[in-house]
Amino acid sequence: MLSLRTLADLILPRYCIACRCELLGSERHLCNQCQLMVSPIEWSKADDNTLLRALWERNDVEAGGSTFYYRHESPFHNIFVLLKYASRPDIARDLTLSTFHLWMERGLTHGADLVIPVPLHRARLWHRGYNQAEWVARGVAEASRLPLRTDILRRTLNNSTQTHKNRTRRMTAMVGAFEVHGDTDLNDKTILLVDDIITTGSTIADCIRALREKYPRINIRAYSLGWSGK
Ligand SMILES: [Zn+2]
Repeated sequence: MLSLRTLADLILPRYCIACRCELLGSERHLCNQCQLMVSPIEWSKADDNTLLRALWERNDVEAGGSTFYYRHESPFHNIFVLLKYASRPDIARDLTLSTFHLWMERGLTHGADLVIPVPLHRARLWHRGYNQAEWVARGVAEASRLPLRTDILRRTLNNSTQTHKNRTRRMTAMVGAFEVHGDTDLNDKTILLVDDIITTGSTIADCIRALREKYPRINIRAYSLGWSGK
């Protein structure tokens, strides 16, 4: 006898958000094939891995992790198109919820106090209607049961033409793009900074600079759903 899920799939097929193949049975968002490509093995430790070594070039981050390699030619590219341009931020939360345990097991959230998403400038937020990094952070907060704080970091520069700039210009454009608000003392606290994609690491670096300026003894970790690699 057909299960309800199979019956529903016959009427309304569901597709993998990465490779677009038809989803079967208990597969959700990702097909089993794409699920296998999640979290490459060499990123085995939260306090030493390839993403972290790239971030260390200009960041003082004690731990970090990312769930996918993000490349234009990879099926995971489709995920970020959906997140950014197709009003599907819920995918960011669901995917994080179903994959983040890999990083929790590796200690990324162990002893952490807060989850803080990289904010969007309010003009961009108004235009898009949501901050996709915040939806990733919701998944992180829900999986780890850590509090989510969206009121601490604020983006003060709207670098909306960023994709048209080259790497060097993009880095300089980000300097001083963030401000820290509120009176929660974050000295000696450990925060997990969350973005949807890490590319050059300059956005994370600028967030860290702003946070450290106000709280010199803050401990910072970083997580993103996608990382463009080196
Ligand atoms: Zn797939």
